[in-house]
Amino acid sequence: MKLVLNGHDERYVVEQSLMNLFPGELPVYEPVLPGDDTWAAVSLEETGNQCRVTVELSYQGRNTVQAAQAPLSGTDFDREGQRRHAIARCFFLAAQAAAGVTPPWGMLTGVRPDKPVTWALADGKTPEQAQAMLETEYFVTPERAALALETGSTALTAARGLGPKDIAVYVGIPFCPTRCAYCSFVSQSVERSFSLVPPYVDALIEEIRSGGAMVREQGLRVRAFYMGGGTPTTLTAEQMDRVLTAFEDAFDTASCGEVTVEAGRPDTITAEKLAVLKAHGVSRVSVNPQTMEDHVLRAIGRRHTARDIEAAMDLVAKYRFPHVNMDLIAGLPEDTPTGFRRSLDRCLAFGTDNVTVHTLALKKGSRILLEGLSIPGPEAVGEMLDYAAPALRAAGYGPYYLYRQKYMSGSFENIGWCRPGAECWYNVYIMSELCSILSFGAGGSTKMVEPGTNRIERVFNLKYPKEYTERPEKCLANQAAFAAFYGQLGSKD
Ligand code: SF4
Repeated sequence: MKLVLNGHDERYVVEQSLMNLFPGELPVYEPVLPGDDTWAAVSLEETGNQCRVTVELSYQGRNTVQAAQAPLSGTDFDREGQRRHAIARCFFLAAQAAAGVTPPWGMLTGVRPDKPVTWALADGKTPEQAQAMLETEYFVTPERAALALETGSTALTAARGLGPKDIAVYVGIPFCPTRCAYCSFVSQSVERSFSLVPPYVDALIEEIRSGGAMVREQGLRVRAFYMGGGTPTTLTAEQMDRVLTAFEDAFDTASCGEVTVEAGRPDTITAEKLAVLKAHGVSRVSVNPQTMEDHVLRAIGRRHTARDIEAAMDLVAKYRFPHVNMDLIAGLPEDTPTGFRRSLDRCLAFGTDNVTVHTLALKKGSRILLEGLSIPGPEAVGEMLDYAAPALRAAGYGPYYLYRQKYMSGSFENIGWCRPGAECWYNVYIMSELCSILSFGAGGSTKMVEPGTNRIERVFNLKYPKEYTERPEKCLANQAAFAAFYGQLGSKD
């Protein structure tokens, strides 16, 4: 779509709305010529404390015009945000009229659509006002707004339970048995990179040790620990034991209320590894079948069957972990609404207290895109999710966190469901950006969150296991940045 911006340069918000309402339309900044049938002119005029936005939009010959006036007040920063919101809102309305569709999350295009609810509730708004704000200001459908109210309220509860020196720790194991068709993560197949694993574990343990010393010096408290990947259970039982021991030795774990390990792929789960997790007091494991349909498992490149998942779940049940999660994905290649329904029903039959329902996100570099695998359309994905929500509620689960990714089928969302009291708080902390996350391992993204403000800084570990292992100085520099962040906060007190 040709875009002409007059009186402003708010490309980002306009492009986000464009992708939201016209998937596949790329922005082109060129003059509109006679005969063009897909274009938009977005104009801004400002007089004193008012701005006026006009959007003329033509989509495949369907023309629409929207105009809106918005007040401007406060600091320059506030006024910039108000201007941007007015442009985004007006463009959304014009695009919605031309496209003839209402996306489930309205004009919200970000990763955390429940954040405005959490802020509104923290500001003293009632739940009804917070939900109405999503519906009227952002055009979110009533169903999604109600969902955001539930997860946004949980985030506020989590925020109120955190102190200014509370953090969470993440450990990444970037190895998997094979690469899934929808994955673009920098995970390495263990078969092909077997020799990288032992030096990786050694480097990881060193990083955990120095990170623990830094955290103690800063007087920070670890509230949650999460080991993810990749697939952490690609490590041997002995390697897992060493990593968990390193964490316990390096950190004061007295305030760490939960220790989660993603067991991930059933073909990596053994009794020996589960015994190690149990011995270390792991409070939550996640087994991630994604589907219980054998032909879908084959299509996504898994080398195990639904029967293997059942066997893994039987084994996990024997160890009586306090919490168990299962992950499913709606919209996988070769899946159907009926197949997804069967998968969810089979997962519910295990009786785990957490089920996470993802929507397929199309990621650059994934086999789905590279090989053009056929996937269910947005209507079919909508049907899958429409089945999931009431089925989960009927089984006693409620939504406790949600997030969105780019290029999700049907512009839907990922939702963590759990039974009351079974929340994985780490997921809430990270998705709602409530506290700092200190990440260890290749590709680790460490987030530093200033309590009570929206200020966030990030540092990243080196991406690939080999470079991560060979250049520990990068991890040390990141830990120094983390310490400096808290040092600077301390000097503000
Ligand atoms: S298990 Fe996860 S990280 Fe590993 S290949 Fe599959 S999607 Fe990617």
